[in-house]
Amino acid sequence: MKKVEYVGLNKELVDSYDKTNHKIWNSTEGQIVEVRKFVRDHYLQEQGYRCAYCRIEKKEGHGMSWDVEHVLSKSLFPLFLFEPLNLVVACKECNTAKDDTNVLVKPKQRLTAYPSDKDSYTIVHPHLDTYSDHFEIIVVGKRRSYRMLNKHKARTTYLVCNLSRFDYQYAEWDDFDAEIVSQFSDFLDHCPKDATPDEVKRMLGHLRFVQKADFT
Ligand SMILES: [Zn+2]
Repeated sequence: MKKVEYVGLNKELVDSYDKTNHKIWNSTEGQIVEVRKFVRDHYLQEQGYRCAYCRIEKKEGHGMSWDVEHVLSKSLFPLFLFEPLNLVVACKECNTAKDDTNVLVKPKQRLTAYPSDKDSYTIVHPHLDTYSDHFEIIVVGKRRSYRMLNKHKARTTYLVCNLSRFDYQYAEWDDFDAEIVSQFSDFLDHCPKDATPDEVKRMLGHLRFVQKADFT
């Protein structure tokens, strides 16, 4: 992933930053608005409109869907407010869950330069780590679940970014009708091992998957 590069007026603003007053980031007027948009657009392109942490894809460019995310939080590490390696885009939900969590292996470390070693971080660093070394994302229909490939970075990322929301909250298991489960298990019991794809399709065709459409 290519790092963002500041030029022109954006660079002037970044160069003039006092490295402490991180609150300027959320200002709604002045050049910072342009800088934020520039950073967001850059990383949306680089990330292919996918969240840095959960990798969910949304083909929308506006700030209602995406936050510019500071891997090392801006309030804990104002020094890295504009550091290109510290910036990515994340979905609102991952960003909200992660909040100001300190993701350094040595959280009390006093830093003068941005740590570029992936082992310095407790979570999967979007710039420094290879995501597939840590997670396998299984997508079935609209459902996604995250298989953690290790108990370290994968597990911490899963917890810090609340990726379990995909397993529970959005998986809609609560709505999974007991009748469908029983039909499906009946199907598994009766489907011969040597059934052709057409036969399987025909047998599956007898199952009724009914979406609950009412608001409750
Ligand atoms: Zn996300």
